[in-house]
Amino acid sequence: MRVVQPLLGLQEIDSRIREFEQELKDIPARIAQEKKRLEGVLGQLANAQADFRTAQTRVDDLVADVKVRRDKIQKLKQEQSGLKSNNEYKMFNLQINALESEIEKLEAQQLIAMDNTIPVKRRVADAEERLSAEQAVIDDYVKEMEDRQAAVEAALKAAEQERAAFLPNVSEAMLRQYSLLLKKRWPVVVSLRRDGDRFICNGCHLVQPPSVGQMAMHDEDVVHCEMCGRILYTTESPAKK
Ligand SMILES: [Zn+2]
Repeated sequence: MRVVQPLLGLQEIDSRIREFEQELKDIPARIAQEKKRLEGVLGQLANAQADFRTAQTRVDDLVADVKVRRDKIQKLKQEQSGLKSNNEYKMFNLQINALESEIEKLEAQQLIAMDNTIPVKRRVADAEERLSAEQAVIDDYVKEMEDRQAAVEAALKAAEQERAAFLPNVSEAMLRQYSLLLKKRWPVVVSLRRDGDRFICNGCHLVQPPSVGQMAMHDEDVVHCEMCGRILYTTESPAKK
């Protein structure tokens, strides 16, 4: 068994812990990303609703314009009944006729304006339908993510318990070195790569002095990379003399 074997065991547990922690960190971002899909549909709905309000206002304005003229006609007719001169009576008739022909035009415009609200109303309904479909997809996704989160939290807790149970296998001195490196390097324990008669750190890829390779092969104590400080090991044995 290599000197670093307990650390490799610990590192294997830590690699799972790190993956679980990373996944837990990513889940809220993934949910937020998914919810962003709603923004486009919400925008379409807001546009359609605004267009519908504009179209409906046009109809309402025309209805009000007609009412103003009808009221005016009614008033004119009341005054007309009290008139004595025939000329005045004719003048009133002219005004009433003019207003009636205005009303006719306005009512024609009103019909067109009402027709114009139909496609806009359909756009609103379509956007509402798309929104609720998207919302259903998102709700499913969020549910899935929450289930995943619960599973990962459980797995993380189990891995942490496994780590605690494994720690007695690691000497205090080794654990101290490993824990210090863990703060800035990952992985902490790496193999040496053989390149001819040279040994290269698989963490930072720097060629090691021959003494480092020799020490790693003799496997008597923990060996560190000269550059990155990672703990090194090799499965090679020293050449037999
Ligand atoms: Zn290195």
